[in-house]
Amino acid sequence: MLKKMPIRLRITVMIVGLLTVCCVGLTLILNLSAETMATRIDATLTLPAKEIGENGWVDESSQLPSRNMTPIVPSDDSQTARKDFRTDSIMYMLFVIVGGGFLTYYISGKALKPLDTLNGQVKNINVHNLSETLSVPPTMDEIAELTVTFNEMTDKLNNAFMMQGRFSASAAHELRTPLAVLQTKVDVFKKKKDHTNEEYDALISVIEKQTSRLRGLIGNLLDMTNMNDNEEQSSICVKIIFEDIISDLSHIAKDKNVTLYLDSDNSVVNGNIDLLYRVFYNLVENGIKYNVDGGRVDVIVNRISKEQVSIKIKDTGIGIAENNKKNIFEPFYRVDNSRSRQMGGAGLGLSIVDSIIKKHNGTITVTDNENGGTCFHVILKNNYDSP
Ligand code: ATP
Ligand code: MG
Repeated sequence: MLKKMPIRLRITVMIVGLLTVCCVGLTLILNLSAETMATRIDATLTLPAKEIGENGWVDESSQLPSRNMTPIVPSDDSQTARKDFRTDSIMYMLFVIVGGGFLTYYISGKALKPLDTLNGQVKNINVHNLSETLSVPPTMDEIAELTVTFNEMTDKLNNAFMMQGRFSASAAHELRTPLAVLQTKVDVFKKKKDHTNEEYDALISVIEKQTSRLRGLIGNLLDMTNMNDNEEQSSICVKIIFEDIISDLSHIAKDKNVTLYLDSDNSVVNGNIDLLYRVFYNLVENGIKYNVDGGRVDVIVNRISKEQVSIKIKDTGIGIAENNKKNIFEPFYRVDNSRSRQMGGAGLGLSIVDSIIKKHNGTITVTDNENGGTCFHVILKNNYDSP
């Protein structure tokens, strides 16, 4: 029941409880001590004067009540005084408890006022005014600290909402573009009655290209949302993944006249095989896509310490300007919009790569390749001793 009360009332009830225990204890002690004192005073008043011996010492033994003596009966005045004292002490005790309770309620109300104000401000925060910050009270207490923490939290939420908004807008834009192309082509096609075989072929080729682009985009969007569904972990030989990837991408590399090289030891990492395949596939695919005619992509895998495996994907391609390097992991970010779009890219690949690497507690950095082009450097944890 105490837990369900507002803090102010809870503090008051607790203090009143404490006051009651202390006051009752004190009153009992006072009454007991007063009773003893009163008995002594009564005894002093009824006993004869102290006998003084020849040597001048007080003969205490003569003053001690003997066992055979009749008990001392307090006078009426003494009894009334005792009763008054008892009543008064109980009255004061009640007064202290009740007064203390009210005072506690009042003071705790004052002390909790900033919390009340904060509560009022927080109630006014909603999804539309997340960017507004709460005024921090000019104190150095926990409430000021709580307000600062709350402001930081709304800031993060606001950023997340804005990012989500940008993400949805970019996703809608990316989905709309191929659909608009298809619509235009079909509209133009419909305007004519008779079509040549070349016109049919051209239309089918546009449909094929745009649907494949849509499929790729939807696949990437699904990857981004379903990433957490696949939690299965295993020990994976990095070399085997790259051998598969190189075989899967060989036809694209051939079309672009780019050669793929693999130089790998037998390092083993711990992680999800499907997710790590996606990471390395995206990186090698980018190395081919953004390469030059006759270029190369080098994959170098080696264990750099007992716990870390280094994976470098170097290409001899067009490179990435220094000021763009920090943005390329953002969803839908493309250095050269028209060029990437021409190649069917939506700018989601590296964003997926970054999320997966973070999920595996690894790191990814991008630098210039020594001979021109780009180098992506991934470091993953090596949890198993490779042979
Ligand atoms: P998607 O991977 O979704 O098909 P994308 O390749 O355009 O599309 P990302 O892989 O996220 O998207 O890459 C983002 C941008 O970074 C690319 O558009 C490209 O401009 C640049 N980029 C990525 N890798 C390289 C690279 N190896 N060399 C040069 N530029 C690159
Ligand atoms: Mg890509």
